[in-house]
Amino acid sequence: MLSCKHLIGPLLNRQFRRHASGITAQLLEQRYVELAQPDGQRLKYPSIWLRDNCQCPECFHAETRARKSHWERGPLHVKAKRVSYDEKSQQLIVNWEDAHSSSYDLEWLQDRDFGQQSRQRYLNEVYKPPVQLWGKSQFGEVTREFSYDDVLKQDSVLRDWLEALAVQGFALLHGAPHDTEVARHLAERIGHIKRTTYGDVFEVKSKPNAKNYAYLMTPLPLHTDMPYYEYKAGINILHTLVQSSSPGGANMMTDGFFIADKMRREHPDYYEVLRTIPVNWFDIGHDGDAGKPFHSLWRAPVICLDVDGQFARINQNTTKRDSRFTVPLDQAMSWYEAYDKFLQLAQAEAVEFKTRAGDVFVFNNLRMLHGRTAYEDSPDNKRHLIGAYVDWDIIYSKLRTLKFPNARN
Ligand SMILES: [Zn+2]
Repeated sequence: MLSCKHLIGPLLNRQFRRHASGITAQLLEQRYVELAQPDGQRLKYPSIWLRDNCQCPECFHAETRARKSHWERGPLHVKAKRVSYDEKSQQLIVNWEDAHSSSYDLEWLQDRDFGQQSRQRYLNEVYKPPVQLWGKSQFGEVTREFSYDDVLKQDSVLRDWLEALAVQGFALLHGAPHDTEVARHLAERIGHIKRTTYGDVFEVKSKPNAKNYAYLMTPLPLHTDMPYYEYKAGINILHTLVQSSSPGGANMMTDGFFIADKMRREHPDYYEVLRTIPVNWFDIGHDGDAGKPFHSLWRAPVICLDVDGQFARINQNTTKRDSRFTVPLDQAMSWYEAYDKFLQLAQAEAVEFKTRAGDVFVFNNLRMLHGRTAYEDSPDNKRHLIGAYVDWDIIYSKLRTLKFPNARN
């Protein structure tokens, strides 16, 4: 087999490797291949999987890390005939009924251990770092702060920042220049901006409708941005260019996953309702400059889980919730009660803080409910923020390249 550097050193079953001699291989019921060491530790693999992942140049293109498509030649139809473990090369050798033979490095096999612990370690270390849920009382201990310059210049700080966004769900950057390109620079430091109906970077400021009591900017209730997008923006980068000197204009934030978890534990019936009943989220209007009409619509519950049963996305935006509620009558009734409980808990756990000019508040838009208290602009003090979005696909990818720069497959 072609040699290759493996992805995750720390995930290897070290115990097994220390005793890499005296390993025996056997075929079980022609369906599994098992490696056993003298002390009884075992690694077990489906033989169909071994055939599917044969690493020989005929079956696998190492340069592109790609399996060659020979589905018709196996793995379903070809059985393993004989298996052995070669001490010298530390490889499992499999001879197949069709005269093909495969060899697998022990390390490579250990990296792909089907055991529950190994799988969980892979999910936590490579797939996504486990999230840390937090309530209002833990805000101080989960707050991560970084220097804007360090994030731009040092890969290790960039990595810590992205980890914080993945784990705690938000982070604060300080010391950004008075420059309308800050949000863009940060997005491009990660990868690239997610462009939406509202453009690539967007401005958050009150309309210049001066000398009017409408100057008083109403509070923005807790929400997530764009629940009406199937591909909802992953993180929101909000750069404070000018902060309001009026008492208001503070940020509010609640960990939506924490609230979902609290509901699961304390109000399981309501939780089930919010996890299963779809809501119509919508936005209809015209985009800024070109004036092109848009009509966004996405149906999804307030609480969404991923394939592993982890919280994946919270949808909440009172202003963007459609009056069309296309569910049966009785579901609509029970949904309102559950939603009311969710909003009560979210409000009770909301933290409040006020950014200053040069701060950049960045948060997971799939997770954090966020809002703003009312404020008042004056002729010489107009609150002005600039925002940009980045998708989690781009962020996790960047994070993995920083954590595993030598990843091959
Ligand atoms: Zn092969």
